[in-house]
Amino acid sequence: MISVSRLLNGRQEGGDSVRFSPDSSYPKVLVFNVTRNCNLRCEHCYSSSGGHHFQDLSLDTWMRSIKEASDMGVKHILLSGGEPLARPDLPSIAKEAHDRGISVELSTNGTMLRNKLEPMRRYVSYVGISIDGPEPIHDDFRGVSGAYKKALEGIRFSRDLGVKTGIRFTITSRNYQYVPYIFDLVREEGLQRVCFYHLGYVGRASRGLDVKNEIRYKVIRQVVELSKGSEFEVLTADNPVDGILIYRLTKSDKVRELLLMNGGNKSGERIADVSPEGEIYPDQFTKVKIGDIGNLRATWDSPNEFLTKLKSRRNYIKCSSCPFFDMCNGGLRGRALALGDVWGKDPSCYLDQIVREERSV
Ligand code: SF4
Repeated sequence: MISVSRLLNGRQEGGDSVRFSPDSSYPKVLVFNVTRNCNLRCEHCYSSSGGHHFQDLSLDTWMRSIKEASDMGVKHILLSGGEPLARPDLPSIAKEAHDRGISVELSTNGTMLRNKLEPMRRYVSYVGISIDGPEPIHDDFRGVSGAYKKALEGIRFSRDLGVKTGIRFTITSRNYQYVPYIFDLVREEGLQRVCFYHLGYVGRASRGLDVKNEIRYKVIRQVVELSKGSEFEVLTADNPVDGILIYRLTKSDKVRELLLMNGGNKSGERIADVSPEGEIYPDQFTKVKIGDIGNLRATWDSPNEFLTKLKSRRNYIKCSSCPFFDMCNGGLRGRALALGDVWGKDPSCYLDQIVREERSV
């Protein structure tokens, strides 16, 4: 993740201790996709979730993995899905992680928060709710009319309970023009964070839904402009080139230093993903299996060939001669994989666009 508010405004947040930390033997952040069930059917869902027919892994399985995660020094668990609140036992999962000193974040479509957040509020440090734009756009994306109203209700409920609350916005060709709308919404609702996600081409999210890199450049420039002096946290996710853009705009040594500390994409190293079936992947978008939930720790103690290569990815990624490789680490492998070569160039790299724009000034 790129902390735009930290790089631009020096605003520090709890997550910075992980974002700007040196590499360690085990990931610091685990995404737990605890279900594939969901009450919505979003066009860009990375896990192709929906319906209520998926047989979830048992509570016991997730509890054992939380204990193992805590022994490994994992600092954050992101509960996602599907819709994680579709699991009736989610409060038990959150409590177990919380009681073991792990910060629990919830990634949700927001529609069930009003009924389900209260029993777990003490265990959750952040609730991120997906919003795709104004009501008609959001409902269209989500495949269910009324989804926006319920999500907004959930946002307000979470905020009023005193839980840190924010918005997650995925940039696509159908909603990129609503970045200012999202900033206004975060401000009007008094929220503490907004995160802009670049699209990963997996699940129901296809490359055809993504923006072209010329547009991507403009969108992130707009995010940067709107973030200046913002009173809330602004992040982008899944494209470290955003950090390079900020460095080129600010020419700040401090920004460069922070980006080098961050090191760009650390999928499989700083972060990893556990699917609803208990398969471990480097992240939610890079579908090359590296382990199983039954052997969480062993995934890193005895890494398979792909994870071993990821740890020295500079030797394999096609763009490793890039002068900014140490700040970027080659971007998201899942998008390169979607184009046929997991070590190929990330198609969402817009460094060429940044250079072109600089030359045109
Ligand atoms: S060329 Fe590769 S390393 Fe350089 S900015 Fe693009 S994705 Fe990152």
